Amino acid sequence: MKILLTGGAGFIGSNFILYALSKGHQIINIDKLTYSGNPENLESVESDSNYVFCKQDICCRPEIENIFVLHQPDVVVHMAAESHVDRSIDNSEEFIRTNVLGTHVLLDCALNYWIQKGRPNNFRFLHLSTDEVFGALGITGIFNENSPYKPNSPYSASKASSDLIVRSYFKTYDFPVLIINSSNNYGPRQYPEKLIPFTILNALQSRPLQVYGKGTQVRDWLYVRDHVSALLQILEKGTPGESYCVGGATELTNLQVVQKICVILEVLKPTKEPYDRLIKFVQDRPGHDFRYAIDFSKVSQDVNWSPETDFTKGLEETIKWYLNRVSNHSLNFNVVKRIGLRTE
Ligand code: NAD
Repeated sequence: MKILLTGGAGFIGSNFILYALSKGHQIINIDKLTYSGNPENLESVESDSNYVFCKQDICCRPEIENIFVLHQPDVVVHMAAESHVDRSIDNSEEFIRTNVLGTHVLLDCALNYWIQKGRPNNFRFLHLSTDEVFGALGITGIFNENSPYKPNSPYSASKASSDLIVRSYFKTYDFPVLIINSSNNYGPRQYPEKLIPFTILNALQSRPLQVYGKGTQVRDWLYVRDHVSALLQILEKGTPGESYCVGGATELTNLQVVQKICVILEVLKPTKEPYDRLIKFVQDRPGHDFRYAIDFSKVSQDVNWSPETDFTKGLEETIKWYLNRVSNHSLNFNVVKRIGLRTE
């Protein structure tokens, strides 16, 4: 497939590109290169003849229209977004602009292109969303494709809004969309403002490992390579107009995740004092969702996918990747210092 991807310089996007190229697909990557887009994530494929990079903002309609005309993609995979909840609490303007308005521009351009091409049957517009659109669970319960939308942060509200617009294009125009609601991803190439890389890099500098509240919030963790393999399979076998919940079958509290990172670091990078001495509980994030959990039985049945990577194994791979980047000086610790947590 010739895949037009947005947000390919980010965490999931860059992992998607490496995986899709290895399967013989072609990629046109549209990315504005915001603070979280990192061209180094894609250094290894820069000269691949199946890879094209377009530095562009998805909100710029004429430029996006031109990219469709020039590259004639078979499918679209839309991941470009503002993606960090804490930043959306500080200022949500860019979240509404990119996640809502940008998605609308991209959808419109894709729809017009699809109509002009004579509505090819195998065209797909895959929109990557999050389980956060469903709000929070208590100690029990699980999200599935029929869960009501109850977003609690400006980030999840912007993603929920974009999901509804995407869905409406299927109902109104028969435009072949697929919506993916996936759980927390982890793995190599994630910008170090999110829990796992943030903790790894702070631990390596003997800085406090800050945990919100008491660290009791529960997330379902999905290894990014498992996720991108699900996305390709859904593109090939998913039913237009459907949404799919994709999860990692790994529910852990934030504190458990931080403790596991400490245990693995003790082996990979031993120090005189244990890493878990650095754990520090800080004031909780406002409106912090308590628990997310994902029932992925629909995607298992419809496209025969389920997560394969054991969390400890995936976390070990992730930590090794960051250790490697730190040891060859390709990762700048100042980034971590600059962002910090909201409470810093
Ligand atoms: P990321 O922040 O690492 O990457 C986002 C990418 O989008 C960056 O490369 C950035 O430069 C680009 N971008 C931002 N605004 C743009 C614009 N206006 N025009 C063009 N490019 C722009 O995010 P991620 O973690 O890789 O997430 C990718 C997608 O997956 C997002 O839509 C996010 O909501 C969704 N998602 C992420 C997770 C997760 O755990 N990371 C879980 C579920 C869903």
